[in-house]
Amino acid sequence: MMATERPGTGGEKRALRCQEARVMLMGFLDGELSPQEVRQIEDHLAVCVDCRSEERAYRRLGKVTEEMIEAGRPSANADVAWAGIYSRIERRIGWFLTWAGLTVLTLFGLWQMINGFLLDASAPLALRVGTGGLLAGGVILLISFVRERLFHRRTERYREVQR
Ligand SMILES: [Zn+2]
Repeated sequence: MMATERPGTGGEKRALRCQEARVMLMGFLDGELSPQEVRQIEDHLAVCVDCRSEERAYRRLGKVTEEMIEAGRPSANADVAWAGIYSRIERRIGWFLTWAGLTVLTLFGLWQMINGFLLDASAPLALRVGTGGLLAGGVILLISFVRERLFHRRTERYREVQR
């Protein structure tokens, strides 16, 4: 028996009894006690082996519970990976729709312009030349963009193979 492990006889009134300490222990571990209460229970734990082992047991239990919750939750890394896949699919769909829309609009515009003033001899020459240039420029840009996209994708694939 170690007499020094017992609460000091001098401050008997201030010192916690084990019963009180056990009640406060949960609040202590959850960080819900006032600074004064924290000091009281720390003082008690410093001198009481029984309450200290009780505290350790509670801490271990809390840790196990946390780990179980953590294991049941999908990891943050998996979330990030899925977000990456989704955004890549989204971007691909976005690109496809953009190109499809642009192509349809260009062809429609081409058709409209040819049927409209390009073949209309009564339309002002400046308007016909202007729209003709605009049309040709648009088509060239579109072809250029598509070619760049295709080339870019090929080099991307090449880089993936290289890795
Ligand atoms: Zn105690």
